[in-house]
Amino acid sequence: MPADTLTAARVKYLARDAGFDLCGIARAEKHPKLARLQDWIALGYAGEMSYLADSLAERLDPRVALPTAQSIISVGVVYNTAQPYSTTIDDPDRVAIARYAWGDDYHGVLRARLRVLLAALATEGGPGFEGLSCVDVDGMQERVWAEAAGLGWIGKNTCVINPKLGSWFVLGEIITNAELDADTPVVDQCGTCTRCIEACPTQAILPVTGPAGSEPYTVDATRCLSYLTIETRGEIDPALQPAVSTHVFGCDICQDVCPWNRKAAVSDDPAWQPRDGLAFPRLADLTRLSDAEWSALIKDSAMKRAGLSRLRRTLGYIARARVEPGARGLD
Ligand code: SF4
Ligand code: SF4
Repeated sequence: MPADTLTAARVKYLARDAGFDLCGIARAEKHPKLARLQDWIALGYAGEMSYLADSLAERLDPRVALPTAQSIISVGVVYNTAQPYSTTIDDPDRVAIARYAWGDDYHGVLRARLRVLLAALATEGGPGFEGLSCVDVDGMQERVWAEAAGLGWIGKNTCVINPKLGSWFVLGEIITNAELDADTPVVDQCGTCTRCIEACPTQAILPVTGPAGSEPYTVDATRCLSYLTIETRGEIDPALQPAVSTHVFGCDICQDVCPWNRKAAVSDDPAWQPRDGLAFPRLADLTRLSDAEWSALIKDSAMKRAGLSRLRRTLGYIARARVEPGARGLD
């Protein structure tokens, strides 16, 4: 029996109560923007992220994960804090860690809030309610659903941009059998701007031609510092190592330069406040950390995904780039 007692307005009210800054509804159906995912993987742009191909069926149709699905509730939480952007840091001793990784691991924070929301929806939806929550690697093309649900548009930097809040928010979803009124997608407002494309240090943002309705730009993950510093095992392609520059974990440049983030929303949520030493730390402070100190620093942090060996590998590139040619004493 489908859940028909919930309304979209009530879902949004409950989402705010559960700690989400954004909530919208999309229909659970094959979305035209998903069509290019398979080609993107076939072109090799996913690199070593084999989990994307492994979960392709769910990613192309949410009804694979929940056959009774009628709606997708897309939620977002602003993680931006009152700190400078990486593009404004002018101190050669400091390095950069992606903004989303300064506080608690967003996966855990969002999962906990989604559990609260799911429980509230199940209570109000009654015995016929079915729902499934997802975050990041759980097999949803989150940005496509966020755009379809009216949270913002997918910019040329491939981030979802909300016209009031900017793009510094993380996403989660609940797939449900509840039939909810869908929201209207936000119109793309990138216009003629190309700041993110010009600022990308590895030229990872590429124009693409795809099926009607698909995004006009994509990111070749195998050139993107977010992928290279977090996902790549072994050595980073020597041709791209200089572009690592100051980026220990992830990269925020294409969001830092986006005009929609000039007045981006800032959160005072304790979950996102930078842990000691993670917002633009000194290179020397990171390189001298012991294993135990690293473990303490990245405990329950998104930085755990890279692991100590990858973090130290990247720090090695950064340190080597700063010494005189031939002086490899920091190896
Ligand atoms: S995150 Fe950095 S490397 Fe990746 S596309 Fe954006 S600017 Fe380029
Ligand atoms: S920098 Fe410009 S082109 Fe890139 S996402 Fe922002 S508005 Fe769009």
